[in-house]
Amino acid sequence: MKLTTKIIIGLIAGAIVGIILNLSAPDLFSTLDTYLFNPLGTIFINLISMLVVPIVLFSIILGVTGLGEPKNLGRIGVKTVSYYLITTAIAIIIGIGLAMIFKPGLIGEFNTADAEYSTEEAPPVSETLINIIPSNPFEALTSGNMLQIIVFAVLVGFALTRLGEKTKGIVNLIEQGNEVMMYLVGLAMKVAPYGTFGLIASAIGSQGFSAIKAMGVYMLVVLGALFVHAAVTYGSSVYFLGGMSPLKFFKGFSPAMGVGFSTSSSNATLPLSMETAQKKLGVPEPISSFVQPLGATINMDGTAIMQGVATIFIAQVYGSDLSLTQLMTVVLTAVLASIGTAGVPGVGLIMLAMVLQSVDLPVEGIALIIGIDRLLDMVRTSVNITGDAACAVVVANTEEKRLQKKA
Ligand code: ASP
Repeated sequence: MKLTTKIIIGLIAGAIVGIILNLSAPDLFSTLDTYLFNPLGTIFINLISMLVVPIVLFSIILGVTGLGEPKNLGRIGVKTVSYYLITTAIAIIIGIGLAMIFKPGLIGEFNTADAEYSTEEAPPVSETLINIIPSNPFEALTSGNMLQIIVFAVLVGFALTRLGEKTKGIVNLIEQGNEVMMYLVGLAMKVAPYGTFGLIASAIGSQGFSAIKAMGVYMLVVLGALFVHAAVTYGSSVYFLGGMSPLKFFKGFSPAMGVGFSTSSSNATLPLSMETAQKKLGVPEPISSFVQPLGATINMDGTAIMQGVATIFIAQVYGSDLSLTQLMTVVLTAVLASIGTAGVPGVGLIMLAMVLQSVDLPVEGIALIIGIDRLLDMVRTSVNITGDAACAVVVANTEEKRLQKKA
């Protein structure tokens, strides 16, 4: 049986078991969660998270050396960041647009009197960007600061390219290290179906379904916007700019989407997203190695969609009309907030506070959506990583065309 099929079976079985236990045997659920679902899920997440830092480091260094001249890196960097910024802005506009049409905050009763939310300190985006150069690369590696690791790796790759023959030994060593890590990804994937089963059963089993009823319209709007963005924005860019049929793209990338869904973490899914893009979508290794780790860190279209819809929802619930200038502020701050969102579960919601504050909406509004955010996090993480893969396909195709033209 193929891995994709196994992961999908794991997902569905986890959902069914989670729902049944949630509705009929909550006590049994908590025992099973402690001894089975949670351990299965945590072991799987740790197993793949273990590989993230070395993979990002090795593969970006190799990616940069593989790209050859520094100007190639510059050109690919500009393409990648432009794609990320443009698609994120489109994502927010889709989210805001659908929320304004379907008005989730005006349908149903919401208890704002009891809404309380203490803002968790999110690092200001400016600080993240200023600290992009690590003062101590080993600290960046041990704390898993992705943006800093990326910068360090790019610089090392650049140096190795410049030094050429002199440092061939180091390049060989890193290549072999990368092989070892990729082999381990393959091993980790063998337990993916069981891991996804545990993660989904645990997440769904512990959900309060009454919250879902009250927040039904909001959830549908977020899900609808995620679907539209994936199908239209990614589908068309992959088709027109990436020269690939959207069907092939989504089918090929589906195992990574399944794992993104169950882990709710772009970072944890990164080893598999890269492997899938390289093996199933034919993205050359140097391109995938640069585009996808960067995307897992700064490109979060699914998160941006949630932030757009949530802002409009909260404005509607609190009866405040946003002017056009305010809407533009939301687009801008949500782009920044999604860049600043780390690829781990739940951070998108913390960063939402920044968007709300930018247009003077009450941060307590977050309390209304927190109960169901865990479920939406799964879907938006899938979209987040799909955006990175779509960009990799687009960049790969445009680079290939360039080479053909030159030849
Ligand atoms: N869980 C998301 C991710 O890892 C981030 C978020 O929206 O909370 O991509």
